[in-house]
Amino acid sequence: MIVLGIESSCDETGLALYDTEHGLLAHALHSQIAMHQEYGGVVPELASRDHIRRALPLLTEVLTQAKLDKHQIDAIAYTQGPGLAGALLVGASVACGLALALDKPVIGIHHLEGHLLSPLLASQPPQFPFIALLVSGGHTQLMRVDGVGQYKLLGETLDDAAGEAFDKSAKLLGLTYPGGPAISRLAEFGDPAAYKLPRPMLHSKDLNFSFSGLKTAVLTVVKNHNTDICEQDKANIARGFVDALVDVLVAKSMTALKEQGLKRLVIAGGVGANQQLRTALNAAAAKRRYQVFYPELEFCTDNGAMIAFAGAMRLQQNPALATREYGFNVRPRWPLHELQT
Ligand code: ATP
Ligand code: MG
Ligand code: FE
Repeated sequence: MIVLGIESSCDETGLALYDTEHGLLAHALHSQIAMHQEYGGVVPELASRDHIRRALPLLTEVLTQAKLDKHQIDAIAYTQGPGLAGALLVGASVACGLALALDKPVIGIHHLEGHLLSPLLASQPPQFPFIALLVSGGHTQLMRVDGVGQYKLLGETLDDAAGEAFDKSAKLLGLTYPGGPAISRLAEFGDPAAYKLPRPMLHSKDLNFSFSGLKTAVLTVVKNHNTDICEQDKANIARGFVDALVDVLVAKSMTALKEQGLKRLVIAGGVGANQQLRTALNAAAAKRRYQVFYPELEFCTDNGAMIAFAGAMRLQQNPALATREYGFNVRPRWPLHELQT
C-alpha cells in the first residue's frame, strides 16, 4: 500500500510517499522560516497562503522522486490537527480534493501521533513498548507507548513547551526565529559555571514540567546587564538555559522509564534535534543500561514523512479508518487522548 502524506499544521509544507512494503519512497519539504523571520514568529495568514502555493509543486516533486504516477497512490493521509486552523485547512482540502479526483480514500492524522511514530522511520527502529519524550514547539509530554494508537500520558508541561522556551529565550538574547538551533549553537561557547539557572519542577515527584519560570530567569539575567551585554555573556546565558532545560528533561525521562519498568526511550519533536539534549540523554541512559532512539534529524521537526507513515500504520491496523467521504473538518485543538484507536 502506498500512502501519500501531507503536513501543513504550522510553517512547514511537507509531502511524502510511504510504501508499506518498501518503506519511505520520497519526501519533500518547504520551510517558511525565512518568510516569518522578519516578524519574529509565525504569521498564520501568511502561512496558509504559502501552503497553497507549495502543496502541488511538492506533490509533483515526490511523485518524480519515487517515479510514480499519482494513480498509483492507494490512500492519502493529512494532518487534521492540532495546529493553525487556516494552515490545516489547506492540507486537508488538498488531500480531500486530490482523493476525490483520484477516487482514493483519505485519513486524518493527529500531528503528535506523527511526531511520536517518526523514530520508527529510522534504520534501527525501537520495538514497543517504550517511553516517548515528545519535545516540540507546542508540546512537552512523557508518554508510555504500547503500540500504534496505544498512548498513555504520564506527564506534560503545565505552561510553556520546551521548544517554546527555546524560542522565547532566544528572542530575549536577540537571536532570530526559530531560536532553538541558534541558542543551542551559542551555548556551545558558553561557560557552564557562569549562570546556574533554576531547574523548574526537578523534584516535583511527578512527571510534569514547567518552563515559563526558566524563561523569566533568562529575562532577569538579560535585564541585569542593561545594554552592555557582550557575545560571551550571551553564550554563557544560553549555556545556563540549555543546561537547566536539558537537566530536567533527562531526569524526568529516566524517572518515567524506571516507574514504568521499561528500558527503551524514544525522543520525538523539534527539540529532539538538540545536540546537548542527545549527549546528556545518551550518557544518562548508558549508565542505567537503557536505550535511546531518535528520529533522523530531518524528521525531528515537522515533515510529511511522519504523516504518511502514521497514516500507513493506522490503515494497516484498521483499514476501516479510510474514508471516501471527502467533506473534511480540521481540529486545531485536539488532545492526543481523544484520538480513536
Ligand atoms: P507541535 O508539533 O507541538 O505542534 P511544532 O510543530 O511547531 O509544534 P516542531 O516542528 O516539532 O514543533 O519543532 C519546532 C521547535 O523545535 C521549535 O521550537 C524549534 O526552536 C525547536 N528546535 C528545532 N531544532 C532545535 C535544536 N537543534 N535545538 C533546540 N530546539 C530546536
Ligand atoms: Mg515549524
Ligand atoms: Fe510539530
